[in-house]
Amino acid sequence: MSTREYDLIVIGAGPVGENVADRATQGGLRVAIVESELVGGECSYWACMPSKALLRSGAALRAARDVDGARQAMTGSIDVAATLRRRDAVVHDWDDASQVEWLQGAGIDLVRGHGRLSGEREVTVTGEDGGTTVLTARHAVAISTGTAALLPDIPGLRDARPWTSRDATGVRDVPASLAILGGGVVGSEMATLFTSFGVPVTMIARSGLLGGVEPFAGEAVAKALTDAGADLRTGVEVARVERDSSGQVVLSLSDGSTVRAAEILVATGRVPRTADIGLEVVGLEPGAWLDVDDTMRVRGVDWLYGVGDVNHRVLLTHQGKYQARAAGDVIAARAHGAAVDDAPWGRHVATADHAVVPQVVFTAPEVAAVGHTEKSATAAGIRTRVLDYDMSWVAGASTFADHYQGKARAIVDEERRVLVGATFVGPEVGEMLHAATIAIMGEVPIDRLWHAVPSYPTLSEVWLRWLEEFGR
Ligand SMILES: Cc1cc2nc3c(=O)[nH]c(=O)nc-3n(C[C@H](O)[C@H](O)[C@H](O)COP(=O)(O)OP(=O)(O)OC[C@H]3O[C@@H](n4cnc5c(N)ncnc54)[C@H](O)[C@@H]3O)c2cc1C
Repeated sequence: MSTREYDLIVIGAGPVGENVADRATQGGLRVAIVESELVGGECSYWACMPSKALLRSGAALRAARDVDGARQAMTGSIDVAATLRRRDAVVHDWDDASQVEWLQGAGIDLVRGHGRLSGEREVTVTGEDGGTTVLTARHAVAISTGTAALLPDIPGLRDARPWTSRDATGVRDVPASLAILGGGVVGSEMATLFTSFGVPVTMIARSGLLGGVEPFAGEAVAKALTDAGADLRTGVEVARVERDSSGQVVLSLSDGSTVRAAEILVATGRVPRTADIGLEVVGLEPGAWLDVDDTMRVRGVDWLYGVGDVNHRVLLTHQGKYQARAAGDVIAARAHGAAVDDAPWGRHVATADHAVVPQVVFTAPEVAAVGHTEKSATAAGIRTRVLDYDMSWVAGASTFADHYQGKARAIVDEERRVLVGATFVGPEVGEMLHAATIAIMGEVPIDRLWHAVPSYPTLSEVWLRWLEEFGR
């Protein structure tokens, strides 16, 4: 056993932990980061990066097929093996050497192994060989251990050896058929992917697709998946799962029907990776989400921080990294006894988590949303004006593709005359989202937006159409 002392210890070197460590180091602290798997975390190797790399081949093919002249050159179907090779390159063959090099360059010490709180400001790391290292922190410990897939309590499911998102994004042998349980972002993206590979997909989505966004977005994705051959079952639940003697997975549904598939992917949510990190040492419940304030400090433990997915504020990489910038900076400020800027929208708080969260879903069509939906704006008591526009009507759509289909919705707060939400559905709309994020975040008055002139002919002309519909 060896003992080392630092200013800050970060448990979990995913995108969030890395950024907490980096900001605190830039703030003059000595930082150790503990990682039990790969430096770079879920996002780099099993989530964002491989999924988006895999989805891109199908998106590029669909785009080319919708442009006369390019379409004629598209004579084959998707090359699955080449797509998987591209994914392997994007995840560096699950080798974290480049991220370790980055940590070294940033002056952060890496301790490999499983980290657990073992006392006040103390973390014990158990290495692969069983050896332990005790790290003590002069100022703080930050937990950024992320999440794992949730396996619902369905009879027979665990014994049926279900896939989780890791198996789907790390796929090597494409299954002959796939059942997907869950209609959220992961389920919808993976249904898009495997249908693009020509795999028969059956999706069981109790309450439709993409529940958190405007209903027209989920409906558009559901229609596109069905048109692409997926079998979408909504309004039903899985009562039982078993793997039969031929190796097939058999799902018994609540409506009495049966679904058979070579594999089943469970995409029904996430659980925090906090079951075995010593939370009991500080009187917290193992396995629970970490309850934090806006500086990411765990309520009731003034030296402990919970940053990223593990605090359940927003389960997205960019939002977690935003929290990490605030947390790394505030930990350094508190360590130096400097002023803390924790008023809303201050440097040391992640205020946008409550107000302006952008998200792109890489389905076909893409869905890009930020801020309020019509439903959430109304529930928040905002006097709402909804502006809908068919994106195929803007000039940019006709040069972009031969049959562009899409829809854009703006939610305007009529009293304050500012945008409070935007949703785009259509090919490539993800790249349009940041303009809306800035307009909402900056509370740019509608009257001023008239002077933000979208380029002709681009899809962004939809902004002008919204303004025309709203009126001056
Ligand atoms: C299939 C899929 C696709 C996604 N796509 C996107 C996307 O396109 N865009 C987006 O913004 N978000 C996406 N997400 C969400 C995104 O992956 C997470 O929001 C992000 O990874 C959270 O980062 P994190 O650093 O908090 O946690 P993680 O990335 O989960 O990293 C946590 C790290 O902590 C380590 N760890 C855990 N416990 C311990 C311990 N006790 N000791 C030491 N180390 C430990 C883990 O090994 C891991 O490396 C996706 C998620 C999934 C499942």
